Amino acid sequence: MNLAELDSDRLLAAFRGLLIGKGVLNEEELSRSGAAMDAASPARGGQVVARAWVDAAYRARLLDNATSAIEELGIYLTGSPPLGVLENTEAVHNIIVCTLCSCYPRMLLGYPPLWYKSAGYRSRAVRDPRGLVREEWGTVIPPEKKVRVLDSTADYRWMVLPQRPRGTEGWSEERLAGLVRETDLIGVTVLPEVL
Ligand code: FE
Repeated sequence: MNLAELDSDRLLAAFRGLLIGKGVLNEEELSRSGAAMDAASPARGGQVVARAWVDAAYRARLLDNATSAIEELGIYLTGSPPLGVLENTEAVHNIIVCTLCSCYPRMLLGYPPLWYKSAGYRSRAVRDPRGLVREEWGTVIPPEKKVRVLDSTADYRWMVLPQRPRGTEGWSEERLAGLVRETDLIGVTVLPEVL
């Protein structure tokens, strides 16, 4: 262990102690949010999406108040900034970016992919979203469909609710969840039709 690591461990321990001592947080909240962060992954996003695909009332609650709808599934989000979920439809396709840095719904999806933080993605997502997703991911968004680019910030995070692919009628929630990829939740890809 080098000196810098030692310093950061001591700084973290001191900061934790201070937050608890001042009553800002308690041990239980800290350990719950630590556990939530460890469990966060794109698979959890898939779970939320699959529930919305099979349950119209859940989908409505998710679009209305994503944080509380996600917590219904036992996924703990307290302490993270509010999260909005935007639905892709026949008329609108959503793409998420953080133009400033790398804001991302980490408590749900885990750490953002490296490309999400790149200067190239952050600038071109705003300037030329259609060209970007076509070149980088082979995603073709029909010209008649509107593209909406959302800026995730420190105060508000976004996730995409992708369209359910055709050919998945009657599938179980678990099987549907397994189809959803990290890139679908950011809006740079769309789920392929299942044949
Ligand atoms: Fe950011």
